[in-house]
Amino acid sequence: MNKEVLDGLFKPKSVAVIGASATPGKIGYSVIKSLINGGYEGPIYPINLKADEILGIKAYPTVFDVPGKIDLAVITIPAKFVLTAIEDCGKAGVKGLSVITSGFGEVGDHETEAKLVEMAHKYGMRMIGPNIIGTLSNSDKLNASFANILPLPGEASLISQSGALLIALDEATHLRGVGFDKLFSLGNMADIDFADIIEWLADDENTKCIALYIEGLKEGRRFLDVCKKVNKPVIALKAGVSAHGAAAAASHTGSLAGAAKVYGSAFEQAGIIQAANLDNLFDLTMAFELQPPMKGDNLLIVTNGGGVGVLATDSAERYGIPLKFLPDDLQKEFKNYMPDFGSAKNPVDITGGAGLEGYKKSIEFGLKQDWVDGLAVLYCETAVTDPDEIAKGIYAAIQSAGDVIKHKPVAVSFVGGDRCAKAMRWLTDNGIPAYDDPDRAVNVLGGLRQYARMQEEKAHEHDGAEIKGDYARAVKIIENARADNRDSLTEVEAKEVFEAYGLDVTKTLLAKSEQEAVDLANKIGYPIVMKIVSPDILHKSDAGGVKVNIKDDAMTREWYNIIMKNAKAYKADANIHGVAIQEMAPLGTEVILGSINDASFGPTVMFGLGGIFVEVLKDVVFAVTPVSEGQAMKMQDSIRSKQILKGARGEKPRDQKAMANLIAHYSKMILDLRDEIKESDANPVMLYEDGKGLKVVDARIILKDK
Ligand code: ADP
Ligand code: MG
Repeated sequence: MNKEVLDGLFKPKSVAVIGASATPGKIGYSVIKSLINGGYEGPIYPINLKADEILGIKAYPTVFDVPGKIDLAVITIPAKFVLTAIEDCGKAGVKGLSVITSGFGEVGDHETEAKLVEMAHKYGMRMIGPNIIGTLSNSDKLNASFANILPLPGEASLISQSGALLIALDEATHLRGVGFDKLFSLGNMADIDFADIIEWLADDENTKCIALYIEGLKEGRRFLDVCKKVNKPVIALKAGVSAHGAAAAASHTGSLAGAAKVYGSAFEQAGIIQAANLDNLFDLTMAFELQPPMKGDNLLIVTNGGGVGVLATDSAERYGIPLKFLPDDLQKEFKNYMPDFGSAKNPVDITGGAGLEGYKKSIEFGLKQDWVDGLAVLYCETAVTDPDEIAKGIYAAIQSAGDVIKHKPVAVSFVGGDRCAKAMRWLTDNGIPAYDDPDRAVNVLGGLRQYARMQEEKAHEHDGAEIKGDYARAVKIIENARADNRDSLTEVEAKEVFEAYGLDVTKTLLAKSEQEAVDLANKIGYPIVMKIVSPDILHKSDAGGVKVNIKDDAMTREWYNIIMKNAKAYKADANIHGVAIQEMAPLGTEVILGSINDASFGPTVMFGLGGIFVEVLKDVVFAVTPVSEGQAMKMQDSIRSKQILKGARGEKPRDQKAMANLIAHYSKMILDLRDEIKESDANPVMLYEDGKGLKVVDARIILKDK
């Protein structure tokens, strides 16, 4: 990233508008008008071949005629002229380009779009767009867009892939009372994308948190890396998670990798807070710009009504900060701030008669307590109290709390009519986020807690870089298969690749005749398992190609022939390598590891329990590689059926450490071999009780097209 160039683009000292127009209704007119109305203080240079002035500002025929330096050139002319305009900008020493013009990649013309980027880069410029609204910044009084107004001032910045949505959200900031400093519309992301701007915002003194509206990512891994590094909260709303993009995938893992699941895991790994919808994006953004992260799990709820208290209690559990009863001594003291019939357990119910003083005193007391990590203040409108007064009481208590408020977040919810709405707006304007539903207030506290938790975990993370694998050995096996014109490995080959990365696989040898089968069975030792080995039979059981628990030579001979016959019946022209003679693993809990090469995030691992857990419940979890053992432990604990791993129904807990080690090595394997492996799985892995390890009993690798 060239900071100086991006500074020129996002905090320009001068702006030229190429295609500026004196005709209302044209974009080139709106942009000039927005710049003027926004109060931009640097020079504005309208560029128009014919006009002498536009909206009272002197115009110039070309960028070469402008008397000063141009930091930002906003381009609004028709698509066919844009490339030449960019070249002119380059020659004139422009730093950054904001290409509002549409009619490129979004209508299929990727070729011209690529040329725009090439031209911009040739002259050391960066380009945002094409097909955008423009960029807006309150702190720079810059509205270089065709949105009418700057957003309500604040300390969040928003990057939106959709331009139309950006204009709408810009307007909505005023209605909702959520302030922003900068708004960016990304459009086709031909050059600048999310990662570039997030990286730049990391150093922007006017941005405290970053909100994103994402449709798709071009460089998903870079995006995650940048989000991981940025020391500001990133809140993302991802659209298009319902598409089951991988439905046609060859492997099980591929078909389970719904876009939502992979995105969700990837966001969590990168420490991104995921918003559920537009409301939630605004709610969270407001909370993150006004409040600190929540350092511990202890949430205190102060309320004047039981109903909203119970609703908030449910929400607290839903959002990962389940409520705990207050310690006895605190309960006793809290009793001083409420009538006898109040409750000091948590929620602390100061009852319907509570007014300014009741709220003020109990909040003051609550915030002072070490036990309390975060506070939700609830109010139900009553006939005897005034919302405005309550708001004043809350504000006064927070003011008098001093420094504790820097690390204890507060969120408020008033339920009622217009008076409540007004009081809440007053609160948010004074730095205290307030919402009209207790669920929303508790939701943002959950978000603030999640953020702090993810930051702590990040501090303890290491990336598993110490894991070693024999890359050369693995590639050699893969190249042999490719030389054979194959797009998949047999189980025997896949297990060799697994072994090269230190995975604990069942010993497997290939028999090409009945006699060899018997010899190898004796070498491995009974009982054994026999399986068909054919690149044309991926699912061996379906073809009658697996027999477990073979106990002696006679059985080996018999099953060698049965398996061969079954395979031929299943697929007459199948290329059969022989029959695998395999060590039989003791029965364990069957789990599945899988991998896909995700379109956005690259090599991604999947973990789940076998059988109905994966077939019916689709209870699986994904993680983008690399995955450390620590993360692999967390993965296991995030499936719904995790209780099975912990030891359900009298069974001993499973060896989750061994599993974590396997996941980390597997993740290293698919990351190293990302250019070779499209999908893979270890299905099943027999997982034994704690201390007894595991065995990978089946292995599958599908190769990437080359
Ligand atoms: P496929 O998935 O191609 O049908 P598998 O190799 O997974 O074939 O075998 C089918 C089932 O047989 C496995 O799910 C597992 O329950 C059992 N099995 C396979 N290999 C072994 C082995 N070496 N030891 C114990 N059980 C095995
Ligand atoms: Mg299998």
